[in-house]
Amino acid sequence: MDTELTKIVTAGTQIFQEGAPGDCAYIIQDGEIELSMLINGTPSAFATLKKGELFGEMALIDNSFRSATAVAKTNVELLIISRDYIAQKIELSDPTVRMLLQVVLERYRDIHARLHNVSESLKEHESTSANSTISSFFSQYLKLSSKLASAITNRQKSNHASKHINKDLESTSDSITKENNLKHALDNNEFELYYQPIVNMPQGTIAGCEALIRWNSPTLGFTPPDEFIGLAEKTGLIIPLGKWITEQACLAASEFRKHQNIYMSINLSAKQFESESFMTDIENAVKAARITNDCIKLEITESILMTNPELAETSLNKLKTAGFSIAIDDFGTGYSSFSYLHRFPIDTLKIDQSFVNAMFNNERSMEIVRSISLLAKNLNMKTIAEGIEGKNESQQLDKFGCDYGQGYMYSRPVPHDDFLHLLKSDSLPVPSAT
Ligand code: C2E
Ligand code: CA
Ligand code: CA
Repeated sequence: MDTELTKIVTAGTQIFQEGAPGDCAYIIQDGEIELSMLINGTPSAFATLKKGELFGEMALIDNSFRSATAVAKTNVELLIISRDYIAQKIELSDPTVRMLLQVVLERYRDIHARLHNVSESLKEHESTSANSTISSFFSQYLKLSSKLASAITNRQKSNHASKHINKDLESTSDSITKENNLKHALDNNEFELYYQPIVNMPQGTIAGCEALIRWNSPTLGFTPPDEFIGLAEKTGLIIPLGKWITEQACLAASEFRKHQNIYMSINLSAKQFESESFMTDIENAVKAARITNDCIKLEITESILMTNPELAETSLNKLKTAGFSIAIDDFGTGYSSFSYLHRFPIDTLKIDQSFVNAMFNNERSMEIVRSISLLAKNLNMKTIAEGIEGKNESQQLDKFGCDYGQGYMYSRPVPHDDFLHLLKSDSLPVPSAT
């Protein structure tokens, strides 16, 4: 795996050459570069690019050769965009956008090839008049290229569309940086698990906790999971990351259980759930922590069940037989279907926080929470209400017969040692932490 994220090039150095195969594109972070083409055997500059501009992308989009030579005009710092990154983005893009990109590029290459042919055929004439035609042709071509380049630059400075271009470049630059940083975060020990108590509502005691990942990136700062779990899924990092989460959560469960007999809830992503190593990984993590499978509750979303129901059924049955509990996370927000409630071995429904938050503003939300609690009871399943922030909510949920609650009212997710302290002091609700 290429681990270089940026490249420093000194003034005068060639970055790539026309006709060479291309393996990456660049965004200029600092400095200026010049693009030129060989016209009639002579290099002719046609554009100067500055900070924030992208170049070298064409050869990656259509897997062809560099159509220009790039030379650093000053010392430059470049952000590298790999071929894999571009290929992945194109693959994930809308098919119409993919087609437009291909057509535009083919047209550009076609014009380029025609100009080249004209140049070659003119070169074959040796007469003075032909030479003067060549000179006049190329001086016109260069004028046109340079007009085009400055028109693009002016457009970037003033036009409404340029706002999008600049914004897109900025967000491309951000997401490449994030993706590159994420690749190294696991090796650099930048992840940490936080734990949020899950409370037995009638008794007011801690029954379990949910492990929630945090990324403390030295360059991006504290980054919430919603901003990187999706990226970890796309890049495949979720497999080693998910394994690490499972191992850490099992070790923490073993530690916590020395003080109180609680269970550990672990979130599973779709890719992790579908991976071949998942079952072995989790069983090994449990063994290494010297706990038993029944201390672990696995949280999966409705979409995991619906995307590949056959695989989900086989895997969930295996997990259930091995003694793990299974909870449906964010229940009611996905493709809720009664069919999976009887098809899959589910123990617990986690009522999504959007319903809990809206209970006192919206009668329907109140009714949904009541109905889910009743449905779960009738199906012999447990319910956990998420996002409880106020006493009025917890009282109402208790009245509905909801078994467990989780939310800022009891405690925010806290680091390992703070959670241990929470267990030892046995005091809920606690003052808010991070
Ligand atoms: P989730 O599984 O639904 O986790 C609950 C989220 O609600 C957590 O956000 C938690 O901090 C937040 N929360 C808890 N109580 C309250 C409350 O009273 N009010 C409000 N407003 N929020 C509350 P967090 O930690 O930012 O996690 C967001 C999502 O990221 C999680 O949603 C889960 O889908 C994903 N995630 C977190 N950790 C992991 C992990 O280890 N593995 C995987 N695959 N996904 C994870
Ligand atoms: Ca969850
Ligand atoms: Ca949830």
